[in-house]
Amino acid sequence: MNSPRIEVDLAKIRQNTKVLTGRLKARGISVLGVTKAVCGNPVIAQAMLDGGVSGLADARVSNVQRMREAGISAPITLIRTPLLSQLTDVVESCGSSYNTERRVISALAAASTDLGINHGIILVMEAGDMRDGILPKDIISIAKYVAGLQGVTLKGIAANFACFSRVPPDQQKMVLISEIAKDVEAQCGRALEIVSGGNSSNIPMALSRSNLARINELRIGEAILLGVDPVSGDRIPHLHTDAFVLIAEVIEMNDKSDIPLQPQELPKGSRLQIVRHYESGNRVIISVGQQDTDCLGLTLPSGMTHLGSTSDHLVLRMSHSEVGVGTEIRFGMNYSALMRAMATPNVQISFLHPPRSLRTRKLKPAHSHLNLV
Ligand SMILES: *Cc1c(COP(=O)(O)O)cnc(C)c1O
Repeated sequence: MNSPRIEVDLAKIRQNTKVLTGRLKARGISVLGVTKAVCGNPVIAQAMLDGGVSGLADARVSNVQRMREAGISAPITLIRTPLLSQLTDVVESCGSSYNTERRVISALAAASTDLGINHGIILVMEAGDMRDGILPKDIISIAKYVAGLQGVTLKGIAANFACFSRVPPDQQKMVLISEIAKDVEAQCGRALEIVSGGNSSNIPMALSRSNLARINELRIGEAILLGVDPVSGDRIPHLHTDAFVLIAEVIEMNDKSDIPLQPQELPKGSRLQIVRHYESGNRVIISVGQQDTDCLGLTLPSGMTHLGSTSDHLVLRMSHSEVGVGTEIRFGMNYSALMRAMATPNVQISFLHPPRSLRTRKLKPAHSHLNLV
């Protein structure tokens, strides 16, 4: 089979989703499956739906369109504020979107009125991540503004954590968001359907006994796909951490320990020193590089050490010699490695445990790289 490729175990994704949605449902929280790390791959999105998510979410309209073209009809929320240049596509493909800018909201209202549809607005509140978000003091006035527009409906408010700033969510923030939701409802005279508390970084808290106040939704990507809490990197109990494996081939193997390293030049005036170090043992060159993935985000098989990478090569040292040219090596991936590997056309995607519908369906040419195993 071709390499490099990502082997995706759909049964593990369904299982992770089922465990998380089941445990969060018991706390009154529904889950949106976030597909941006897999570029809206419709087969993986379907595995999330089969596992029990109530809808999907992605940051890019192109990913949403990819899912719609593959026949996914579940509700999809755009979780990045829409680009002014893409508004028609947004209202045609997404039922709701995350918003922080009046100018964008009014243009969305005009675009959906033109198309004769209604678009849901979720206002994103700044809660410490320092990325996109409306300051708490400005939420009420924007909410009132949205409530007065034709073509859009104020559906809820949302906060985000631990993406840009790495600040994790806490109970006080959940209470604060809930209080703001209550104020918005009082001022706008209508109930908010959604109070969305955050992403995978909320899971440890959501599964503990913390007071989640009005939070009734989380958007989950990393925990479903990789089974880990993005803040600590720890495995979430009962989840699979190996639903995705990157497989690449050995293209050269040599003991290069006798070759003297070329003296490297330092810039004039540098106070750094070059410390020479020689590595003994076999050097293994693998057919994957920085263009394909985040090489530092790969988990190596035991006995292998990372020496470095270039655009198309990964260089490892190996303490044993059971591998040879052509041997396939299996790597685990963190979020950064996964998201890059899923985005490049050079890495093929093969699925384990596809649902019956996919096994029998004749695949369209657009999916000609899809291997069913
Ligand atoms: C990426 C993203 C998520 C999902 O984050 P994970 O850590 O993968 O669960 C949720 N909400 C927003 C706004 C995002 O940008």
